[in-house]
Amino acid sequence: MIKFYNTLNRKKEVFTPIVPGKVTLYTCGPTVYDYAHIGNLRAFLFEDILRRYLEFSGFDVLHVMNITDIDDKTIRKSIEEKRSLIDFTNEYTNAFFKDLKTLNILSAHHYPRATDFVPQMIDMISNLEMKGYTYALEDGSVFFKISKFKNYGKLANLDPEQLLSGDRVADDEYEKKEGRDFALWKGYKPEDGEVFWESPWGRGRPGWHIECSVMSTSYLGDHFDIHCGGVDNIFPHHENEIAQSCAASGKQFVNYWLHNEHLLVDGGKMSKSEGNFYRLRELLAKKFSPEAIRYTLLSAHYRSKLNFTFEKIQASQKSINRLKELKRRLILIPKDENGMFDNLKTSQMLDGFTNKMGDDLNISGALGELFLWVSEVFTLLDNSGVNYSFAQNALSAISKIDSVLGVLDLDISSVDEDIESLIHQRNIARDEKKWDVADKIREELNQRGIVLEDTDDGTIWKKK
Ligand code: AMP
Ligand code: ZN
Repeated sequence: MIKFYNTLNRKKEVFTPIVPGKVTLYTCGPTVYDYAHIGNLRAFLFEDILRRYLEFSGFDVLHVMNITDIDDKTIRKSIEEKRSLIDFTNEYTNAFFKDLKTLNILSAHHYPRATDFVPQMIDMISNLEMKGYTYALEDGSVFFKISKFKNYGKLANLDPEQLLSGDRVADDEYEKKEGRDFALWKGYKPEDGEVFWESPWGRGRPGWHIECSVMSTSYLGDHFDIHCGGVDNIFPHHENEIAQSCAASGKQFVNYWLHNEHLLVDGGKMSKSEGNFYRLRELLAKKFSPEAIRYTLLSAHYRSKLNFTFEKIQASQKSINRLKELKRRLILIPKDENGMFDNLKTSQMLDGFTNKMGDDLNISGALGELFLWVSEVFTLLDNSGVNYSFAQNALSAISKIDSVLGVLDLDISSVDEDIESLIHQRNIARDEKKWDVADKIREELNQRGIVLEDTDDGTIWKKK
C-alpha cells in the first residue's frame, strides 16, 4: 500500500491509480530563460524518485514534463538579448537536458514545448469561451472568470471572501492574496516583439497556465493520476490549471497533487531573483561529484525545507562511498566461501526500505533502514564472514535499492562532454579571430577548475 500527501485534500491518502497497474504523471518542467539552479533540480529529483519508486513497485508509468518556452520571462529576456525566442530558449532547454543526464534523472516519455501547442491552446480557450467561462477585452486579451468556477481556490486553500472576480491580473505569476480573474490569452503588446500568434481574438500569446492544461491533457487525457511541482506552483499556476481543465472537460482533472518544498540557502528560498543560487556546473567546478549532489538533494523528505550546505554534499559522498565499498567487498566473495547464510536480514531491510518509501516517500526512514543493514553486513564481513549466497542476495538488494536512489553507477561522461563542447566553441572562436569570445570561454573553464593547454596537436585540458 502506497500513501501520498495530496495537497488537494491536505492529507495522506492511499494511492489508487485510475487504471490498475498504470500511472499517468505530469510534472511541470523548467522555464527556459536561464540555467536551472539546484533548487529547481531538487524539484526534478523529487519527481525522479517518485517515478522510480512507482516503477520499483511494479507500476507502468507514463511521464510527461513540459518545457515552458513561452512566458513573461522567456519573452522579456530573449528580446533583451536580441535573439529569437526559439534560438534563445533552445540554449537553456539543451542545458537542462544535460543537467538531467548528469544527475541520472530518468527521461520523461514526452517533453512537449509550449511553442508546439499554441493551436491546441486556442482550441481550449475557444471551448471555455463557448461554455461562458471567459470574457475578452478590447486589447485582444481573454480572461478566465473565476466566479463561474465554483471550486476555485480549493487547492491553494483560498478564503472565498478574498476572491475578487472581475478584478484582473495579467502577469503569469502573482501573490496568493490576489485571487483574481487571470489571463488565458494576452493581446499583443509592442514589448512582445516578434512573439505572437494569430487567434480569433487577434494577435497575441497564451498565458502560462493554459499551457500546462493543454500539454498535460494532450498526452494523458482529461483525467490523470498525479501532477507535481514545487510549492510555489500551487498558486496561481496549479489552481488556475484546475479551473481551466475542469471547466473545459466537465470532468475531474487530477487525482493526486504532490508538491515539493524549497531548497534554501541561509534560511531563504534559493531563487534566481534573489541571486542566492548555485547551478550544477558551479558545484561540479568545486569538484563535488554528480552522485553526491544527487544524494544531497534527494536525501531529505520532499515536503520539508532543505538548507543547502557544502558539508551536506561531503557527508553524502561518504554515505555513497560506504555503499560502494560494501558492494566491492561483496563482489569479492568467492563461490566456495563459507560463512553466514541468513538472508532474512537482507529481506527485512528491503521490506523496511519499501514500506518507508511507500509512506509518502519517507526517504530518511528508508535510508535509515538501508544504512543500519550496511553496518551490520560490514560487521559480519569483518567477523564471521558471509557465504556466496548471502553476498549475491545482498548485491541484488543493493541493486534494487539503487534503482530508486540512482547514486551508484552514474555516467559522468556528460560532464566531460560539456567541457569538450566548450573547447570546441573556443576553437571556432579562435579560427574566426573572435579573441574576446575565446578568452571568455577559457575563463569560464578556468572557474570550473579546468585548465587548457594549446599544443600542436590541438587543445588538451586537465583539472587544476
Ligand atoms: P521554474 O523553472 O521556475 O518554472 O521552476 C521549475 C521547478 O522548480 C518548479 O517545480 C518550481 O516550483 C521548482 N522550484 C523553484 N525554486 C525552487 C527551490 N528553491 N527549491 C525547490 N524547488 C524549486
Ligand atoms: Zn506547469
